[in-house]
Amino acid sequence: MQKGQINVTTENIFPIIKKFLYSDHEIFLRELVSNAVDATQKLKTLATTGEYDGELSDVAIRIDVNKKKKTITITDRGVGMTEDEIDKYINQIAFSSAEEFLEKYKDKANAIIGHFGLGFYSSFMVSSKVEIHTKSYKNDSKAIKWECDGSPEFSIEEIKKEDYGTKIILHIDDESKDFLEKSKIEELLKKYCKFLPVPIVFGKKTEWKEGKEVDTDQDNQINNTSPAWTKKPADLKEEDYQSFYKELYPMTFDNPLFNIHLNVDYPFNLTGILYFPKIKQNFEIQKNKIQLYSNQVFVTDSVEGIVPEFLTLLHGVIDSPDIPLNVSRSYLQSDSNVKKISSHITKKVADRLSDIFKNERDEFEKKWEDLKLFVAYGMLSDPKFYEKAIKFALFKNTEGKSFTWDEYNTLIKDNQTDKDKNLICLYTSDTEAQFTFIEAAKRKGYDVLVLNGQLDSHLLNHLESKFENTRFTRVDSDVVEKLIRKDEDTTSKLKKEEELDLITVFKSHLPKEGNYIVMFEPMSPNSNPVMITQSEFMRRMKEMSAMGGGMSFYGDLPSSYNLVVNSNHNLIEQIAKSTEEAVKAKLEPIKKEVSSIDSDIQALETLKKGKKEDEIAQEEKDQMDELRKKKDDLNKKKEDVLSEYGKDNKLIKQLVDLALLSNNMLKGEALDNFVKRSVELIEK
Ligand code: ADP
Ligand code: MG
Repeated sequence: MQKGQINVTTENIFPIIKKFLYSDHEIFLRELVSNAVDATQKLKTLATTGEYDGELSDVAIRIDVNKKKKTITITDRGVGMTEDEIDKYINQIAFSSAEEFLEKYKDKANAIIGHFGLGFYSSFMVSSKVEIHTKSYKNDSKAIKWECDGSPEFSIEEIKKEDYGTKIILHIDDESKDFLEKSKIEELLKKYCKFLPVPIVFGKKTEWKEGKEVDTDQDNQINNTSPAWTKKPADLKEEDYQSFYKELYPMTFDNPLFNIHLNVDYPFNLTGILYFPKIKQNFEIQKNKIQLYSNQVFVTDSVEGIVPEFLTLLHGVIDSPDIPLNVSRSYLQSDSNVKKISSHITKKVADRLSDIFKNERDEFEKKWEDLKLFVAYGMLSDPKFYEKAIKFALFKNTEGKSFTWDEYNTLIKDNQTDKDKNLICLYTSDTEAQFTFIEAAKRKGYDVLVLNGQLDSHLLNHLESKFENTRFTRVDSDVVEKLIRKDEDTTSKLKKEEELDLITVFKSHLPKEGNYIVMFEPMSPNSNPVMITQSEFMRRMKEMSAMGGGMSFYGDLPSSYNLVVNSNHNLIEQIAKSTEEAVKAKLEPIKKEVSSIDSDIQALETLKKGKKEDEIAQEEKDQMDELRKKKDDLNKKKEDVLSEYGKDNKLIKQLVDLALLSNNMLKGEALDNFVKRSVELIEK
């Protein structure tokens, strides 16, 4: 037996390895199995070049757990190692890279916990002693055993071993005895080794016999050695993609909508299959994450930073030997290969959607509802994706017809361009609640889009910023006459003075909640007599502040609405008339007085004309103040008369309530009162 000292300066590297990497101990298995796969693949390559001409019948890699002896054994039929090779690869190279690694990351151990490349030495994270039994495939090689107990000392001796290949025996330490559970190892193998290219066998398949689980004589192979993404797209049918999806996510019952087969070998290596899942209305926690592989070895399923955030909504696998796997996440994000891969994937995804749109538009339209959240997310977060997606993103109107952005522009251009040459896209966020407004817009020949998706309000802001002369206006943000301002001047049937009086009358019936501004508009006699609208600007500001967009000033304001009275509606004309009659006796004297004061004020103003402030006599100033005060008092009196009259006017109350009702804003006691009043009015 020969003894040696591993060439390290750190006194004892192993306690440090253990301490540093506490969170990810399980990757020892991935590292050891990958080494076994590498060794097996090397032998296969040598066989194809003729450098090896021996048998290659059973290449399976076997993993065994012995709970009693507290060992885990990984056995392969790969190239094996000679004594020289052990010295070179295990004693020198692997150790020095382990040391270098620790040297480099000493200070930021926490940041790098996760993916790192300790390779073979990661086995010391869970072992008190590691043995390598190995025999090279080369003729006349001696079998040797290397052993190390976690100190820098190791021993090497010759042993008897029939087969070429390597057997790694881990003596699991007490802190790591969880790894001696069969179920734990099976779980890890399924996680990391599910698609390795060499058969991975973990014991025997079991069956139930007489109430006991017993081994059969069949190998329990963990992996599928040729998963779909390693095949050529031409060799795969739609069913193959569907069944691979099930293989990836056995607990999922929904079928994916589409898939993309990635197959790049220049300027980087990348294969994979991505699936578009059905994305539900809510951004649910994504349970089917994209899995990242490196040469069929599972690396991680947290791909944030490797693919753009919106693509994390996709499912599937990405396999690239060019992604540096054994480094920290922040390093990954700044890696230029990773960036290239990321933008390549984005491009592929956009191209695939664009293809389906062009070649199978019907299919695309059918699946749009399930895709739109994903596409909207991509358009908002990635300018390059936006450029492509704006050509296939669909906009649906209230009739259920779908249009691309260009098609829609052509459709509405003639009828929905306002006097300032802005294209006005009308939309509804709720076809039920905004029904009245939608109907009014349709009667006017306008088209109304349905924008009720979770990201639609962001998307329309985004589109407005992209297209200078385009505005989105919700159908209930104004009366239909003013939604799209054109140069048509409709005249009112009411006189200005009548309108002013009626504003006071209507004010006595405003709801207590919210801020209302009463205004008169000369609309079509067929439009509703009274309507409630909310300005697009104010509503958006409040929505943004509710979503945490920093507009808290607007969020704190009470909602403000317009109560718009149709001055051309018959009922309003009637109300104007009857109001006039009812308050005539009381208002006439007041109005007379007001107009006499007005002419006094007028007279004073003429006197003042051309004089500087200090040339005006104090007497004149006082007189003016008094007149103004008198006028204010009279106006107040006038308003009192009108409010007094308004308060008892059930018809007005009824009209205001009807407007509230058609906006879904009449609730509770107010609604109850409305119903009772309606019954009374019908009985009359
Ligand atoms: P890496 O795999 O990145 O080279 P490792 O520390 O995992 O680093 O392994 C170091 C070296 O030891 C390998 O490159 C290989 O030459 C050798 N080796 C490890 N495991 C085996 C094995 N099962 N069979 C043959 N050689 C092995
Ligand atoms: Mg390795």
